[in-house]
Amino acid sequence: MPSLVFRKGLDLKHAVAGMLADNYHSAIVDRIKAEDFTYRSGRLTLHLAREFGFCYGVDRAVDYAYQTRERFPDRDVFLTGEIIHNPHVNEKLRTMGVRFLSDDPDAVDRLGGNDVVILPAFGVTVAMLERLDRRGCTLVDTTCGSVLNVWKNVRRYAEGGYTAIIHGKVWHEETQATASQAVQYGGKYLVVFDRAETDLVCEYIRRGGAAGDLTARFANAVSPGFDCERDLQRIGLANQTTMLMSESLEIGEMIRTAMVERYGDADLGEHYQAFDTICSATQDRQDAVVALLRDKPVDLMIVIGGYNSSNTTNLARICDTSRPTFHIADPDCLVSAREVRHRPVGSKEEKTATGWLPAEGPVRIGLTSGASTPDNLVGATIAKLAEFCS
Ligand code: SF4
Repeated sequence: MPSLVFRKGLDLKHAVAGMLADNYHSAIVDRIKAEDFTYRSGRLTLHLAREFGFCYGVDRAVDYAYQTRERFPDRDVFLTGEIIHNPHVNEKLRTMGVRFLSDDPDAVDRLGGNDVVILPAFGVTVAMLERLDRRGCTLVDTTCGSVLNVWKNVRRYAEGGYTAIIHGKVWHEETQATASQAVQYGGKYLVVFDRAETDLVCEYIRRGGAAGDLTARFANAVSPGFDCERDLQRIGLANQTTMLMSESLEIGEMIRTAMVERYGDADLGEHYQAFDTICSATQDRQDAVVALLRDKPVDLMIVIGGYNSSNTTNLARICDTSRPTFHIADPDCLVSAREVRHRPVGSKEEKTATGWLPAEGPVRIGLTSGASTPDNLVGATIAKLAEFCS
């Protein structure tokens, strides 16, 4: 039986609006926005980035998840995995009785026609979609339109005989889903994480020949049967939507230059295509934090968001280039005016730092949050900072 799929909500937006506001809204954040994104209390001056927090895709995904629970109170409701990369939002959904298929690898095969499965904002792989479809369950698809746009470009590459080079994190759900689209449409893909990996690919594009090292390095980041000589002759560039814009542009330019060196620029379009697929919400948040760092004399930056949130991590990378930066998962990480738990940029672990807040005198703090961080966490963070600086 084909699955019933809801893609545009479940007509219960108004029914869940109050609940969403209760769970994620923050009066203090609203007030700061109204007061030119600046907050003063005691010796603290806080500057909020002009774009931060929930993006349109996350807003919609969480809204649809609440609508799903409301619409199907007596049916088992599942998520394939985290709906967005914020532990608080995922935990809240658990308390509402939503179960996570990612908790049990065999759970999908036990689903039945009465079950409801919510697909996350970053989408799922073609293989997962087919598995769910075979179970005949009801699907609520919250895949963000900006992710669908990436898929559209990747499919076009596949149909045109271009290998999709995806600037992304090979372990990230969105990149896995995007890569699966290339294969589904008969294409190839290769995922590059950063400039260093792109350099290796560019070096191969220039010289060709034996690809032993490259094949080994990208063993887990290419489509099945990938052949460097054959599959790097025609390339289409795509990005995971939440990567660092400046880095994605640089990676595109590196690959374009290598293709010109190898094939000349007379018919470059035959060998190289690119579409910017960083989403506008990611771009806006990155631009806003760049502006804050440029325009406000802040002593340090706080970035709030899940440690596995790609866009939050990239906001922290931007901040870290010019200010002491503390990427915290939630307000509880601000242990005291002396101690903070945070994940330093480039580290895979949370660490504890001491002496992070100047002990005396005025303190100027810049603050932003990732696209999956609700305002109530931002508000609670600000309240703690005010308390520490009173
Ligand atoms: S970060 Fe961008 S692509 Fe991801 S859910 Fe938000 S708007 Fe959509």
